[in-house]
Amino acid sequence: MIDIVIIGAGPAGVTAAIYAVRAGLSVRVIEAEMVGGQAATTPEIENFPPFDKITGFEFATKMAANLEKMDIPVEYGEVNNIKKESDGFTINLQGNIFATKTIIIANGAKRRKLHCENEEKFTGRGVSWCAVCDGNFFKNKITAVNGGGNSALEDALYLSGLCEKVYLIHRREQFRATDNLVEKVMSNDKISILTPYTIEKINGENSLESLTVKNLKDGALEEIEVSGLFEAIGLEAENEAFKELTELDKSGYIITDENCATSCAGIFAAGDTRSKNLRQISTAVADGALAATQAYNHIKKI
Ligand code: NAP
Repeated sequence: MIDIVIIGAGPAGVTAAIYAVRAGLSVRVIEAEMVGGQAATTPEIENFPPFDKITGFEFATKMAANLEKMDIPVEYGEVNNIKKESDGFTINLQGNIFATKTIIIANGAKRRKLHCENEEKFTGRGVSWCAVCDGNFFKNKITAVNGGGNSALEDALYLSGLCEKVYLIHRREQFRATDNLVEKVMSNDKISILTPYTIEKINGENSLESLTVKNLKDGALEEIEVSGLFEAIGLEAENEAFKELTELDKSGYIITDENCATSCAGIFAAGDTRSKNLRQISTAVADGALAATQAYNHIKKI
């Protein structure tokens, strides 16, 4: 039986794995996509102390290298469900069953979709959720970013280095992003800001050609020509597989105490998946360390 199964290999999950292995516990990490989580697709990380600036890709590569160096095995796939057993839990990973004493859920959150007309039709044909992954397809073209948070402004700045022009479309006049990002965006002459605007429809034949946008001040509809749309309108919890065992808040995030313990003894939650006020790499890392320490204490008691 494994001591800790960690679901998610973002900053929270990888930190938890490092702490657990250093405490002498057996660990298995399960990841649905790639090591690094949301951080891997961030253009540039500037607020994590060891680095003045590092790309998300480089950051994720360093985390993957550390896991390898420490011989921490990573299984790839989606967790279908978790069952409570008399001596711990079983995890069903697409038919593979893992028996474990404790679980740390560190699966992060998924990017929210706009759900506007033709979004699905043009997904992968102009509509993307990852500027770092897909930005290069739009070199010297006109693109749009939707959203007013840190991700949207970072994406707009990143794309301004590749594209002829970038529209930043946001539903309010105030941005939620930090002041330094707002200042950078405001002073970037490749970024054209459309606020308060919403995207009503995505248009094109085989690929995205234009967006129908609405000016919320007067309700007027306008059409803007773009080849790419990057949606950066926030995150949503993805905790369906855990809702039978752990208590969720009304947005679907896992409720924990300050030590990352959930409502189910032996299950801990760390990072963005947890109900919390600040979702950052540094807070995810802190959660990972706490959750692993608490899991260790739990194992010593059972
Ligand atoms: P976020 O901070 O939640 O911002 C989402 C933005 O999308 C908001 O401006 C919101 O508008 C808008 N929005 C939400 N639903 C919408 C809809 N249906 N239609 C149109 N617009 C919609 O999300 P995020 O930027 O992805 O960031 C997620 C978390 O990661 C945050 O905690 C953020 O601070 C953190 N993060 C930090 C950094 C960094 O520190 N450098 C970088 C990236 C992300 P309203 O403002 O009107 O609500």
